[in-house]
Amino acid sequence: MTGPVPQPGILDIQAYVGGGHEAPGADRVIVLSANETPLGPSPSAIDAYQALSSSLHRYPDGDSAELRQAIARRHGCAAERIVCGNGSDELIALLVRCYAGVGGEVLYSWHGFMMYPISAQTVGATPVAAQEANYTVDVDAMLAQVTPRTRIVFVANPNNPTGSYISSDEMRRLREGLPDNVLLVIDAAYAEYVTRNDYTAGSELVEEYDNVVMTRTFSKIFGLAALRLGWAYCSPQIADVLNRVRGPFNVTAAAQAAGVAALADISHTDAALAHNDVWLPWLTGKLKDLGLTVHPSVGNFVLVRFADTEAANAAYAAMMKAGIIARQMGGYGLPECIRITIGLEDENQLVVQALEGHLNG
Ligand code: PMP
Repeated sequence: MTGPVPQPGILDIQAYVGGGHEAPGADRVIVLSANETPLGPSPSAIDAYQALSSSLHRYPDGDSAELRQAIARRHGCAAERIVCGNGSDELIALLVRCYAGVGGEVLYSWHGFMMYPISAQTVGATPVAAQEANYTVDVDAMLAQVTPRTRIVFVANPNNPTGSYISSDEMRRLREGLPDNVLLVIDAAYAEYVTRNDYTAGSELVEEYDNVVMTRTFSKIFGLAALRLGWAYCSPQIADVLNRVRGPFNVTAAAQAAGVAALADISHTDAALAHNDVWLPWLTGKLKDLGLTVHPSVGNFVLVRFADTEAANAAYAAMMKAGIIARQMGGYGLPECIRITIGLEDENQLVVQALEGHLNG
């Protein structure tokens, strides 16, 4: 081979493919492929974004200071422990870059979010998948996979794409079973949607232990996926490490301004949660009535299981024909499943109609 050669392992990476947004030929396109909120962002976040158009020649605040204060206020966190990122994807990648590397292992659960193994591969670390129990993180199985080479353990809680979660007691048990030199990353991208009283997003563990990080995103309930904004809650030492490695202006001014405005609009996220609380159980129930297996979800999406891969592919195609874009799950080792985001009222109804017509038509 001539020309520059990428680092060992880079060419083994299967690039992440995001949820599609196009349904060729459909009159109306309904995007339920990427767990975005159907209510969109807060109007005040849109105003804040637009107001920036007159100062696009200015660099953003490299510390995201106002945004970190606003996050701290809304979430009851300490601003100096917060590091903002270009989506939580960037923070996942930075954590792996800083704490794993060649010879290290990055542990995650079998159907965990795909950016964990991909990020591990980018630094030459070995991704290790632990078995799950009933499509849910199994703390004992995770702990059984910890070796002297383990550097990071990732848990998405709730998990995408399964929609399952573990209780705060189970998360604590996981932390307490880990050596102090292993970093536990709790990815709480969907935390705002969870309405179970045995669940916490994990900030208390961050404050108690120096080896726990919680990551959060503005892409889901806050509806700012296009702006790429996430944050990590860390020990002061880990925040210091991330701040050394991240780009000096990794969060755009537009993302910071819209994020501050979105955080202030509590009624908007309350409405998004109230919407999900109605339509998540509704869609789950209707799909079960069609004879499908729906994994219990605490997020803003459902994982639907079909008889086999062929049946899942046929259902996906039938939805696509009706203009509904769901997400195929082959990349997660679940080719017999389809993930569907909770949409607007009529979108959810159209999902049921399309599947009903396909299955019974
Ligand atoms: N973690 C989980 C579990 C996710 O599902 C996603 C988005 N699909 C992310 C992290 C990344 O989110 P973002 O980079 O948009 O903040």
